[in-house]
Amino acid sequence: MLLTVLLLQVAVACAWGVGIWAMDLPRRPAWHWLASGLLCAAAMAIVLMRDLLPLPVGVSGSNLVMLATALALGRGMRVFLGLPLGDRETAAVLLLFCGLSAVAMTRLHEPAGVRLQAVTTTVALMWALGRSIAVGYRALCAEFGRRRALVLVVPMGLTFVMAAVRLASAVGAPARPLHVDAPLHVAVALLMLVALLMLHGSMAAMVVMRLVGRLRELSQRDTLTGLLNRGEWLRQLRAQHRWLGRHGESFALLIIDIDHFKQVNDRWGHAAGDAVLVNVAQELITSSRALDAVGRLGGEEFVVLLPRTDAPAAMSLAERLRSQLAQAQIDWREQPLRVTVSIGVAVATDAGELPAQLMERADAALYRAKHAGRDRVVLDGEAPAPPAGPPPWPQAVRRAMPMPPAVPSTTPPTPPVSRTDFVDTA
Ligand code: GH3
Ligand code: MG
Ligand code: MG
Repeated sequence: MLLTVLLLQVAVACAWGVGIWAMDLPRRPAWHWLASGLLCAAAMAIVLMRDLLPLPVGVSGSNLVMLATALALGRGMRVFLGLPLGDRETAAVLLLFCGLSAVAMTRLHEPAGVRLQAVTTTVALMWALGRSIAVGYRALCAEFGRRRALVLVVPMGLTFVMAAVRLASAVGAPARPLHVDAPLHVAVALLMLVALLMLHGSMAAMVVMRLVGRLRELSQRDTLTGLLNRGEWLRQLRAQHRWLGRHGESFALLIIDIDHFKQVNDRWGHAAGDAVLVNVAQELITSSRALDAVGRLGGEEFVVLLPRTDAPAAMSLAERLRSQLAQAQIDWREQPLRVTVSIGVAVATDAGELPAQLMERADAALYRAKHAGRDRVVLDGEAPAPPAGPPPWPQAVRRAMPMPPAVPSTTPPTPPVSRTDFVDTA
């Protein structure tokens, strides 16, 4: 059984090695876990060769290496989670462990010496595991959520409990060497094997969960602004549309386009344009409600999905967004920049209307807002409101970009570009 543990630990170490080499796993933590596997294999080897080795090496040596196994595993976890390594604390515990082991070593022929060694090792192991759980749990909760964090610390918790049982038995009865093939010892070795595999499994799960989280983030978020990207936002729109079909709950959507954005790029450069996009995105996030889904469709076009919202509520939220964005000042290399936005609003009340058609309506409203002079909110089917205030653009910029003539509200608007390519007709 101990040989099985040894071979499995070598296999685990090899797996971490392959992960580092071929899969570009986070190197520092993976090296720790690889070392932990090898140390455990070494501890098993010492136990198996105990009869061939001097007694202090066989007993105290294997215990020390087993403790190092747990310390390497915990340190790898701290490295992975970006936590303080606590090396001084560890060094102090190791020093204490070595001191007590040295005392035990001199009396290993007596039950008291064996017991002292067993108790010292088990307490040190419990400290290493308990410390890892205590410092790691909070960071795991922050990164993966409480439920997943609990699952991740279960192997360490179980190993801690096993160590506690061993401590109780070591205190209560004279310790016997583990390599004797008594059924109890075989069972203990089997439990140890399962615990070690679970410990390495939880470390691997952490790595996978982080990678999956990053992939999800990359596939759902716009890299510049951090808002939902077009694909994810459209997925949420389709989900909201299905919800309307099932529960009859109306929702609204806003398409927000920055006015004369090209001139920001032309006058102050692309980097200034990017800063404006990031700023507008932040304003949209802070000004919208927690249940709203804010996304960037592309370029300088943003979208907000407003669940459980009727036309008056959507208009008042859109108007609030418009006025806050018009007032916001973006400091770009000591140059205060201001932008305005035009917003098209459409409200979905009929589940028979496809998301693509809803987008077309919102886009038509945006088109009318642009033609009516920009810096305004237009609800699909309603006349554009009069200008909200003086435009923030310097006269030179405004002269360079003449406004298109206003379209009478009775004229049916024609969107400049069909939006049907945006939405699947699911
Ligand atoms: P309008 O008021 O009619 O919307 O005019 P506009 O200038 O805002 O619209 P137009 O479509 O003419 O220009 C959009 C510009 O946005 C052109 C493009 O170079 C710029 N743009 C698109 N994506 C990005 C980006 O990620 N960063 C920056 N800085 N500019 C971008
Ligand atoms: Mg545009
Ligand atoms: Mg624009």
